[in-house]
Amino acid sequence: MKKIVSISDIYLISDRKDVLKIIREQGFDGVFIYASDVKGESSIQEIYANNLEIEMVHLSNGKEINEIWKNGCEGDEVVQKIIGEIKKMNELGLKKGVLHTTSSFFPPDVSKIAVDRMKRIVNVCESMEFKLAIENLKSQRHIDYLLQQIESDMFGFCFDSGHANAFTKNLELFPWELYGDRIMSLHLHDNNGEKDQHLIPGKGNIHWSWLIHKLFSLKADLNLTLEVEYKGKEYAYGKVSDSDFYAMAYQSLLTLEKFITIT
Ligand SMILES: [Zn+2]
Repeated sequence: MKKIVSISDIYLISDRKDVLKIIREQGFDGVFIYASDVKGESSIQEIYANNLEIEMVHLSNGKEINEIWKNGCEGDEVVQKIIGEIKKMNELGLKKGVLHTTSSFFPPDVSKIAVDRMKRIVNVCESMEFKLAIENLKSQRHIDYLLQQIESDMFGFCFDSGHANAFTKNLELFPWELYGDRIMSLHLHDNNGEKDQHLIPGKGNIHWSWLIHKLFSLKADLNLTLEVEYKGKEYAYGKVSDSDFYAMAYQSLLTLEKFITIT
């Protein structure tokens, strides 16, 4: 399986160009990027020039996403913004996006209107063959609800290990049976079980051998995708260079890869 790592401008210490080179040199197959960092065709070409693929794009997210669960024109405006961004990413040749559907521990209750709105988004995705994966965050219930209500090959799930460990604290009791083959991608990162630290696997308390075996027994053709950060994380890594950090990140994926076949 391919080995992918996230790259986000707000967490970069060095120049993006240098970091992309380092990511390739360490052995990664591709990156996972943020729509807010995409400034047009040149942002994409810079990545391809380093022989890296773009596995997925994280669509913009903010507090306003909670509006989709409520009546009112604000929710419709949020939907239009999401559709606009998906179309823009699709025009740039990107074919998979990750979306948050809530933004706090206590979002508005689940609602039919949110299902209707999400269906509008999914219809656009279907017309372009753009895969949309909604990500587990602070409310499991909202994710469960949308996935149960909307069936489409273009609509699935992005499993975030750190969010399940620190936010919903349900790693072992995760409703895997609901998702199984609807998992489209992984956001792998570690933490202490309390904060969403986005650490390299092995630096927190997630039971990785169990988790990776579980995920790949549900779906065998997933990529190993890290969503890790190192700016301001000296408490976990000490003082490391970009190369040291991405070498460590790549090594963690080699370790996780071994867990796939453990029985
Ligand atoms: Zn994530």
